[in-house]
Amino acid sequence: MARIVVFGSSNTDMTVRVARLPAPGETVLGDGFAATPGGKGANQAVAARRAGAEVVFVAAVGDDDLGRRALDGYRREGIDVAHARVVAGVASGVALISVADDGENMIAVASGANMSLAPEDVAALPDALFRPGDLLLTGLEIPRPTALAAMRRGRAAGMTVILNPAPAPRPGDPATEELLAAADVVTPNRIEARALAGTERDAGPLANAERIRTKGPKTVIVTLGREGCLATTGAEVYEIPSRKVDAVDAVGAGDAFNGALAAVLAEGRPLGEALAWATAAAALAVTRPGAQAALPTREAIDRFVH
Ligand code: ADP
Repeated sequence: MARIVVFGSSNTDMTVRVARLPAPGETVLGDGFAATPGGKGANQAVAARRAGAEVVFVAAVGDDDLGRRALDGYRREGIDVAHARVVAGVASGVALISVADDGENMIAVASGANMSLAPEDVAALPDALFRPGDLLLTGLEIPRPTALAAMRRGRAAGMTVILNPAPAPRPGDPATEELLAAADVVTPNRIEARALAGTERDAGPLANAERIRTKGPKTVIVTLGREGCLATTGAEVYEIPSRKVDAVDAVGAGDAFNGALAAVLAEGRPLGEALAWATAAAALAVTRPGAQAALPTREAIDRFVH
């Protein structure tokens, strides 16, 4: 089975539950608070691990309690963090999250140490981390040049490179075009797909996906929230409806999707199967509060799929 190397962010999520999201300038009183591990990179690493994959997580945390606790947590999951960096004098990443009763959320992130993960760190990693046939998964909560350096090194080594382009890159930015050219698989949500397509008029998710394919990636997968996902390889189009569930917290749905997708692809299974699994894993994740706490195990996904 192929291994998955995740490059990405590690944050602590500071979450408040509220009846409804505040409007700009407004204060609403919520009733629950929790500080839990998060960050898109970490969530994806944990999602892939719980889905049964062997996972290496390359990240940067601060030399503080939050950072140390985060790394301990990833180790307990069975994730290899031997190449994660602890950066002196910088705070660990933090996300301030409000979750409303209907599952909608609002998030502000202080990236902190995540922005210290540099292209030089990628260059310093051993060749043994970049094995042909393995998967590399990265997002954009780390500096773009770092994500790009990782993708290019993975590509050169013969890895399958998956880019989760979140948060959404700026349309028309030349750096975005470079990222797309270095990816085999790109997994935007609907809004990110719109931004990446870069067309004046929004032609819809499938047309946006086809447009993104012209920029380099062989496979483009657009996640559509409660509507599921669609994917195109040029030759084939997949439309996978989402499973009907009672959504309580959509935070990390995309991460659950990406981690499970990578885990199934790492087993060498076909794209259609990977999409069905990823959709099931993400649906399970939205039925439970929190980001990592909500990520389902292999057994839970298995039961849900069958
Ligand atoms: P992101 O979290 O990155 O914005 P989406 O909102 O598109 O991404 O969600 C990712 C995936 O999570 C979807 O493709 C879908 O499979 C699943 N999902 C999201 N919201 C729901 C929901 N309310 N019910 C069932 N599945 C959902």
